[in-house]
Amino acid sequence: MMFDFLNKDNLGKDYKGFILLSIDDLPDYKAKALFLRHKKTGLEVYHILADDKENTFAFAFRTVAKDSKGCAHIMEHSTLCGSEKYPLKEPFTTLAGQSLNTFLNAMTYPDKTVYPGSSVVKADYFTIMDVYADAVFFPKLDYETFIQEGHRLEMDEKGKLSIQGVVYNEMKGNYSSFIDVAVDEQIKVMYPDSFPAFDSGGDPLVIPTLTYQEFLDFHQKFYNPDNCLLYLYGNIPTAEQLDYLDEHFIARLEKKYKCTKEIENAYSETPLVKEEIKELQKLNLIKESREIKAYAPETGATGSIVAINWYSGKADIEKYYLSEVLCGNDSSPLSKRLKDSKLGDDLSPIWNNFGQMQEEFFCYGLSGVKKGDEKKVFDLVQKSLKEIYEEGISEEDIDSAVMGIDFSLREVTRYWGPYSLVIMEKVLKGWNSGKLCRDQLSPITSFEKVKEKIKADKDYTKNLIKKYFLDNDVTVKIIVEPSEQYFEERTKIEKELIARLEKNLDKVQLKRDLDLLHQAQQHIETPEETSCIPHTKISELDRNIDLIKTELSFVKGSDGSGVPLFINKEQTNGIFYMDVMFPFDGLDPKYYRDIPTLSNIITNMGWNNKSWDDCISESACVMGDVWGRTYCSSVSDSQDCKDFAAKYKDYNFIDRQWIGLTCKALTENAEKSLDLLSEIISKMSFDDNQRFESLLQEIKADKKSSLVQSGRDYALKRARATLSKSLALNEIMWGITQYKTVSSYHKKDIPQLLQTFKKLYYECIKQGAVLHITADEDSVNKIIPLLESFVQKTGITSVKTKKEYTLEDYLSQIYKVENIKDEMSCEAIKLNSQTGYAAVVSPACEYLTKEASAENVFSTWLNTHTLWDKIRTSGGAYGANAWIDSISRYFGMCTYRDPSPVQSVKVYLDSLKELSEYDFDPHDIERTIVSIYGNAICPAAPKDRGEKGFWGMLFANPQDFKLKLVDNLFAVTPEDVKKAALRIYNQTQKMCKKAVFCDKSTSTDDLGLNGTITL
Ligand SMILES: [Zn+2]
Repeated sequence: MMFDFLNKDNLGKDYKGFILLSIDDLPDYKAKALFLRHKKTGLEVYHILADDKENTFAFAFRTVAKDSKGCAHIMEHSTLCGSEKYPLKEPFTTLAGQSLNTFLNAMTYPDKTVYPGSSVVKADYFTIMDVYADAVFFPKLDYETFIQEGHRLEMDEKGKLSIQGVVYNEMKGNYSSFIDVAVDEQIKVMYPDSFPAFDSGGDPLVIPTLTYQEFLDFHQKFYNPDNCLLYLYGNIPTAEQLDYLDEHFIARLEKKYKCTKEIENAYSETPLVKEEIKELQKLNLIKESREIKAYAPETGATGSIVAINWYSGKADIEKYYLSEVLCGNDSSPLSKRLKDSKLGDDLSPIWNNFGQMQEEFFCYGLSGVKKGDEKKVFDLVQKSLKEIYEEGISEEDIDSAVMGIDFSLREVTRYWGPYSLVIMEKVLKGWNSGKLCRDQLSPITSFEKVKEKIKADKDYTKNLIKKYFLDNDVTVKIIVEPSEQYFEERTKIEKELIARLEKNLDKVQLKRDLDLLHQAQQHIETPEETSCIPHTKISELDRNIDLIKTELSFVKGSDGSGVPLFINKEQTNGIFYMDVMFPFDGLDPKYYRDIPTLSNIITNMGWNNKSWDDCISESACVMGDVWGRTYCSSVSDSQDCKDFAAKYKDYNFIDRQWIGLTCKALTENAEKSLDLLSEIISKMSFDDNQRFESLLQEIKADKKSSLVQSGRDYALKRARATLSKSLALNEIMWGITQYKTVSSYHKKDIPQLLQTFKKLYYECIKQGAVLHITADEDSVNKIIPLLESFVQKTGITSVKTKKEYTLEDYLSQIYKVENIKDEMSCEAIKLNSQTGYAAVVSPACEYLTKEASAENVFSTWLNTHTLWDKIRTSGGAYGANAWIDSISRYFGMCTYRDPSPVQSVKVYLDSLKELSEYDFDPHDIERTIVSIYGNAICPAAPKDRGEKGFWGMLFANPQDFKLKLVDNLFAVTPEDVKKAALRIYNQTQKMCKKAVFCDKSTSTDDLGLNGTITL
């Protein structure tokens, strides 16, 4: 008889040793869940049974930091470097390079390490699970792995020592940015001497003190089945999952971890946490108010972060609501007071919910605060809260907070992976500290209760302010100040550390260790070796992939013409997304550089002669959000695309550059939302100088802080800027040129600038528009009848024909274009940064050709082979990847958080030369093809599906072309890849454009630079 997991009579009974402990109803997710524990090993399982073919699993371990040596993080990397069943260098990379996964990663948190994987193909799902389970429970953890992933001394030819290691370098990147360090400092301060105060990722100045023995002990202590939480989500039956574990792992686990009898409390309905771990999880809190100052690197900072923190107890939706009321949008009572004070350029990061701690805190303040103004900020925050309490909270502020939360609880997103990972984080939060998982999974139900309280008691919200702030005796005031000496001091400590390590160093032994390591790193695994991981064959793949459908119809415009309307029907849960886009490419190219700022300020400057505060509070009560945006790209020169474009020629919407507005709202508010959107578009204001000044300050601060974070993108945009109009536009709008443009906007020019923006905006509207809606069927049916009146009222017309400008016209707008003009140009972008990035670009084949598919396979093969081995593993960069953009006709390579970007450029080009004569293994190529196919079938969130469909129509790249891409991909042979490699190499001899982004002190002499930009 089948074991019925959903039958309550089976509670307390076991299936293959797994005791069924609870059956949870999760109405908020339209799902049920099971909690189980294996009797002998203690392994706990939480399975959310959802009607979703994208299944997810995650092995999580409670790994609580007690220092900043980064052992948890190094372990996270190292378990994935070979295990009993998969004795490969890096099974993870092999897997990533050949599986159909839709998510595959590992993450270290301050109190846990999580290994999740997802797939829409069942066989593939179990393959990934098998590799991961073997990795976490049976890793090799060789000494070579430890020094490769953790830290080691490297010796150059002259005997000069430096510290290297993948995690070591990765974390150096973290310690390069003001905001990353500032956030860490805030947390550290709040929990002195307890786990959040330590850097679980590792502090590069402390990482080198971790010993190999400590590393091995760490695995023994934390990676036990009885400290493992296995999260499962999706439609694969529980029995099948448990059968798999039973058949492949349970006996091996029992043997290795000596699980001979039933564990204590095996039948407990609450998760079991071991005493020694409970001890580590304890938080140390500050008991009396105090003021604390910390320092962070100045890179990206415009001033200090100044904030007051209050402990809030455990996170719940009531506290989230309170935060939304106070600071949910710019017109909220606290954020408005802070912003209006002009004491800083942005609200400091506001949290009440880190998602890790049982005891969390509220944090309110400002960033970008000038020296001397710190006390004013403290006083202002305290005075404001008191005032808000005394004055009471307006109905609009309450309504907009409720509306915002209702909206966010209903929207299914996919920010960094499947939505199941968002749920996973909620589950683990409770589970990790021994709480019931189901208690974390009722956000909608809990919020309904809060809504009832709001209705019943008009003072409910204001009393929360009293409870959490005015009556809360302990306040922690924090200043995090940008320091010019930050890097200097750290470099000095690093040097001392190396000198100390050198003292007891046996150089002969070191050389032997390094030789062994380098030898192992250089070994290229044969397909026979990697065949231990089963892989899907091309013949098993389905050619009929899911295609997003975009419908085109027309709405009668204000001049009687047809305004194109694109519709994507998707499962949006009663939400609709709408774009109204106007072409801006009719403007003189000298204005393109202003477009990003224009798109940033529309919807942010107010409308219809109302004050900005009235506008924002009105829109927050009606919509989920409304924002300005651009859509910029180009049409491929391939015949299919040209034919497609020709079909729609008369409508003028293909191959245009767009600026416009997007809103999202609950369909029940559709009428009000469209009325408001119409008002915003047709009556937008450009006359609030003060408002613009503060927006400008924020934009400048954002740009500044993006520099190091996005160094890779800045380098890439420079390298490829001269290849086409659209790539030139990309540099103008988002590259160094844009950085320079934003820096050139001065306070004294504000009235003039606003006049320009106003002129540009109304100029664009005159060019006509396209509409786009993504929503579920019911929502679409409700919205369509409203559109004609919307279009007429707003004054929208069909799209006018475009003016043609030349590539030269575009190039003339690029900052220092002479640096990047010639075929072999190389440029350096220099600033203070502990980490670097490199970008190399060369020509590629035409879109939709078999050659382009072969180049795609070659680039993917490079990622999992050469680039991984030479630039990541040996070179110490956090990442490196190559890709082909056959629409823009280039083949690109970028490195990420790279300690030696100059070297990486050389390594890449040398490798291309070597590979131009390489014979690719047929199995390897097949696996690469399968993994590319896997990316193509990765599910997307409803909103993103809508955007993809829309984008395809605007740039003549409709979804059906995917079928041709799949056919071409499946037809690629090893011979084709060999030709592609040779072609790419030959192309680099004719045209190869490079850019490196690095620290001012980096020597770039070897590169033959055309120019340097110092920031
Ligand atoms: Zn890492």
